[in-house]
Amino acid sequence: MTRSVSTLVIGGGVIGASVAWHLQQRGVRDVLVVDASPGPGCGSTGKATGGYRGQFANRINVELSLLSRAKLLRFVDDVGVDPEYRPVGYLFLADDQATLNSFRAARDIQHAAGLTEACELTLDEAQRINPHVVLDGVVGAAWCPSDATIRPLNILRGYLDAARRGGVQVQWNAPVEGMEREANGCITHVTVAGERIAVGQVVNAAGAWSARIAAMAGVDLPVTPARRQIACTEPLTALDDSFPMTIWTRDAFHLRIRDRRALLNWPVDTLRDDPYALDVDEPMVERVMAIARERVPLMRTTALDASAHWVGLYEMSPDKTVIFGRARSCDNLLLVNGSSGHGVMHSPILGQLAAELLCDGVTRTLDVHALRLERFAEGDAQPISGLL
Ligand SMILES: Cc1cc2nc3c(=O)[nH]c(=O)nc-3n(C[C@H](O)[C@H](O)[C@H](O)COP(=O)(O)OP(=O)(O)OC[C@H]3O[C@@H](n4cnc5c(N)ncnc54)[C@H](O)[C@@H]3O)c2cc1C
Repeated sequence: MTRSVSTLVIGGGVIGASVAWHLQQRGVRDVLVVDASPGPGCGSTGKATGGYRGQFANRINVELSLLSRAKLLRFVDDVGVDPEYRPVGYLFLADDQATLNSFRAARDIQHAAGLTEACELTLDEAQRINPHVVLDGVVGAAWCPSDATIRPLNILRGYLDAARRGGVQVQWNAPVEGMEREANGCITHVTVAGERIAVGQVVNAAGAWSARIAAMAGVDLPVTPARRQIACTEPLTALDDSFPMTIWTRDAFHLRIRDRRALLNWPVDTLRDDPYALDVDEPMVERVMAIARERVPLMRTTALDASAHWVGLYEMSPDKTVIFGRARSCDNLLLVNGSSGHGVMHSPILGQLAAELLCDGVTRTLDVHALRLERFAEGDAQPISGLL
C-alpha cells in the first residue's frame, strides 16, 4: 500500500528540522522528514562555525536576524536544548572611507529595523574591543555587541529531537529520487529510497542540493554550492571563546575562537571540477594560517591541527538572501533555500514562517514578499553591500 504523508520535508538539516518542529507545534500530523545522509549534521549544518549577526545591509535580513534572536533566547524553554547564544560581537574592520560609508548606510537600515545597538568605532575603540589584533591599514570599524556565536548542532538536535517527541517521523539514508506531478504542476507522489510516497505539501529544505530537488518539480531554483574551508588550530592558551568574531573587509579573512581553537576562514573559493567536493585544500590552509599569524600576534607560535580542518558548502542565492515561498509553478512546493551561509542563524524564524504559510496561507510574523523566488526575474533582488 502506498504510504501517505501530509507534509514531506526534504532535508534534515537545521532548516528542515526547524520547519518540522514548527509544523508539529501547530498541530500538523503525519509530517515526514527525509534525508539522504546517514544521520544528523552530515550536510552544511554540521560544517557551520556558528556565527549569528544582525549587521546586514538590507532590511529583510536584519529582520530575520532579530526575529531569530528572540527565538534563540527562548530556545531552551521551547525545545529543551541550549543553543549557546553568546553575544561576543562582530567586528567588521574597514580600510578606507568608502567602506566606512557603506557601513554607515547599512547601519541606517539596521537602526530603522530595530538593531539600535549597532555602531561605528574609531580605530582606538576597535582596538579596545579586540586588543589581540593588528590594525595596520584599518581606519575604523562597524560593531554590534549583540552579534554572537551559537552552536549549530545544538539547534539542529533541539529541533529534531523535539519534533520527533511530538510525532514527526525522521528517515535517514532516504534520498529523494523523483516526483510525480499533476497537470496543474502540484506534486502528488515523491519517490524516496525506492518507495513511492503520496504527499500533501512538500518542503524543499535540501540546502546546497536544493536546486536538484526543485528541478524534479520543474522549478528552476538559482541556488548553487560554494565551497568554504575552515582551518583549525590546536587549542590556544592565550585566547578564549569570548574573542569577538573579527572580519577584515579588505579580503574577507575572519576568525573566531571555538572551544579555545581558532577557526580561520578565508572565503576564497577553492574551486574543484566537482562543486560538491569536500577535500581540504592544504596549500590554502597554510596561506590562511600565515594571514592569521600576521594579524593576531598571539598566534605566531600556534600550530595548526591537521586533523581538524574541514570544507563545507554554502547554499548561495544570487543576492545572498534566502528564497522563501511557494513555487508559483508548483503550488504545493514550499522553498526555504539559499540562505547563503546564514541558514543556521535564520533557521528559527524560517521554520516559524514556513509553518505559518503552510497552516494559515499567509505569514503573520513578517511580510516575506521580498524573499519570493520571482524577485530575480522581476529585477527586485535584495541590495547587498560588500560583506554585509
Ligand atoms: C564552513 C561553513 C561555515 C558556516 N558558518 C555559518 C555561520 O556561522 N552561521 C550560519 O548561520 N550559517 C553558517 N553556515 C551556513 C549554514 O551551514 C547553512 O546555511 C545551513 O546549514 C543550511 O541549512 P540546511 O538545513 O538548509 O542545509 P543542510 O544542513 O545542508 O541540510 C540539507 C540536507 O538535505 C539533504 N539532502 C540533499 N539532497 C537530498 C536528497 N536528494 N534527498 C534527501 N535529502 C537530501 C542533505 O543530506 C542535508 O542533510 C556555514 C556553512 C559552512 C559550510
